[in-house]
Amino acid sequence: MGDLSRNFSRSEFACPHCGKAEIDSLLVAALQRIRDRAGPVVVTSGYRCPVHNEAVGGVKNSQHLYGQAADIYVPGMSQVALLALVREMVVKEEIYVGYAYPISGSARAVHVDVRIPESQTVRGWKNG
Ligand SMILES: [Zn+2]
Repeated sequence: MGDLSRNFSRSEFACPHCGKAEIDSLLVAALQRIRDRAGPVVVTSGYRCPVHNEAVGGVKNSQHLYGQAADIYVPGMSQVALLALVREMVVKEEIYVGYAYPISGSARAVHVDVRIPESQTVRGWKNG
């Protein structure tokens, strides 16, 4: 049992630098539904304070700063398969995700965030 949703706890999203974990409930809702479909989801990066974001080379307006992004993987699932699942769930309107894209250099990690895309009709998918 998590304290944010059935399977997610705030501690999973905490900034490694300061322990803060300001997380958007829309993001948690999307991750919980992905978890329901795919099995356990590992969060490798959730909330980042400005100090930590800079330390890891995050972009200046990173959605991680706003608690609206998570880098995740599902053990046993490839990056391509996870991205395909997220996209399918968005198309079927099972989840709201503004952007999702593969994390370069990783075989399985995917970035998902719940920002509102510039266009409401076209989702901002990057690299598939
Ligand atoms: Zn911090």
